[in-house]
Amino acid sequence: MQYQSTRAAAGSAVSAFSDILLGGLAPDGGLYLPLTYPQVSGAELDAWRRLSYADLAYEVLRKFATDIPDAELRALTHKTYTAAVYCNGRAADDAADITPLHLLGQFEAPGGSAPLFLQSLSNGPTLAFKDMAMQMLGNLFEYALAKNGAELNIFGATSGDTGSAAEYAMRGKQGIRVFMLSPHKKMSAFQTAQMFSLQDPNIFNIAVEGVFDDCQDLVKAVSNDLPFKQRQKIGTVNSINWARIVAQVVYYFRGYLLATQENTQKVSFTVPSGNFGNICAGHIARMMGLPIDKLVAATNENDVLDEFFRTGVYRVRGAKQTYHTSSPSMDISKASNFERFIADLLGRDSARVRQLFHKVETEGGFDLSGKPGSDGDEFARVGQFGFASGKSTHRDRLETIREIEDDYGVMIDTHTADGVKVAREHLTAGVPMIVLETALPAKFNETILEALGRDAERPAGFDHIEELPQRFVVMAADVGLMKSYIAEHTGL
Ligand SMILES: *Cc1c(COP(=O)(O)O)cnc(C)c1O
Repeated sequence: MQYQSTRAAAGSAVSAFSDILLGGLAPDGGLYLPLTYPQVSGAELDAWRRLSYADLAYEVLRKFATDIPDAELRALTHKTYTAAVYCNGRAADDAADITPLHLLGQFEAPGGSAPLFLQSLSNGPTLAFKDMAMQMLGNLFEYALAKNGAELNIFGATSGDTGSAAEYAMRGKQGIRVFMLSPHKKMSAFQTAQMFSLQDPNIFNIAVEGVFDDCQDLVKAVSNDLPFKQRQKIGTVNSINWARIVAQVVYYFRGYLLATQENTQKVSFTVPSGNFGNICAGHIARMMGLPIDKLVAATNENDVLDEFFRTGVYRVRGAKQTYHTSSPSMDISKASNFERFIADLLGRDSARVRQLFHKVETEGGFDLSGKPGSDGDEFARVGQFGFASGKSTHRDRLETIREIEDDYGVMIDTHTADGVKVAREHLTAGVPMIVLETALPAKFNETILEALGRDAERPAGFDHIEELPQRFVVMAADVGLMKSYIAEHTGL
């Protein structure tokens, strides 16, 4: 399987999976995609019905990671997707499913009804779906680095979810250190405890005196010093990493196989979306031949994606027009994986992809509506890719959390609530709708308390994490200080 940037000039070189594994953006500023999507036959899909999650992950990944020997890839998927890693608060047989499907009930759809399922993706160590891909990434990184005797220092900024998922994926891994910046005293007590209680010597928590944007500016400033970046072997684990997307493709297959009996059936998915990473994996599963009817992007008040899927206009927002909401992991004003879908929508016309995303940088967006003066008319083809969308507000989240608790006895988190709210607007009679559950309610307890008047239950083992000893340093938002701290701890 060969990969190329979405912006690649005609005739440019191709890369193997292992070549792009540790990287993020392609050197030309684009994102990596396989030249063509591997296909899954009906016979294969039938055979996959009987597989464990780890074996299914192996079958899907080996179509993409063709340069990793089969036996080694199988060992890596089995090490990642074991019940020991994915077991929070669940009975052992349910935990063995890794991403179990729960039927909420039959919901009204035009002309009939449709079963609505929740697919549970947040039973990993940090209680959010990002563990699903990040745990795999940790094992793939360790494997690739060991092969070359190399090391990697991951440097990033977090306001919560991504940073903790990265730390739990990389803790104790050979050849890897993590330097994670977070705004001092700005994360929830739970999130702070999750990250700062890690005692692994390869994890460095740096609490920056400032806000999240200051942390991000520091990451940019350090990354822009290329000689420093090279000498210190600095890399990232942001959501544009291709291997992360591939690891997410697996649970779309799993959800489909659990919701159907035979391959003539279709299902739809609704995905609480921010950077378009999760739903991009659904798009890829569909391109591989998985019988997906609709892929519904659910946003919160930050509705960049909903606006595109309604109008064909992609209009990114500045930091000042980004709302802080009660589904904070979706507070995104510019969807970093969106370029992958646009590349497919444009038939992989890399010159046009380059031109449109240059326009995003210079003019803040592009317009594919086909109206006079627009940049193209490809919005008319969006339906062929199954996409639909909707948005949700804080009030919608509160109502949905209450209703699902009252009527079905299930407590959902704020991001999943955005998904359920939007999913109900896109039901087709007789077609199962699967809403991806992206976090457990315990992570966003403030809003659960507001909606239900009581606390979210915490999975076993998380009861008193705020009282555990914490390991972190506080630092001024100063690039020089940051660089010397990194150099001192890498010894490079
Ligand atoms: C990251 C995240 C999302 C958004 O996923 P994207 O891949 O960025 O679209 C949704 N919900 C939760 C809980 C998250 O952590």
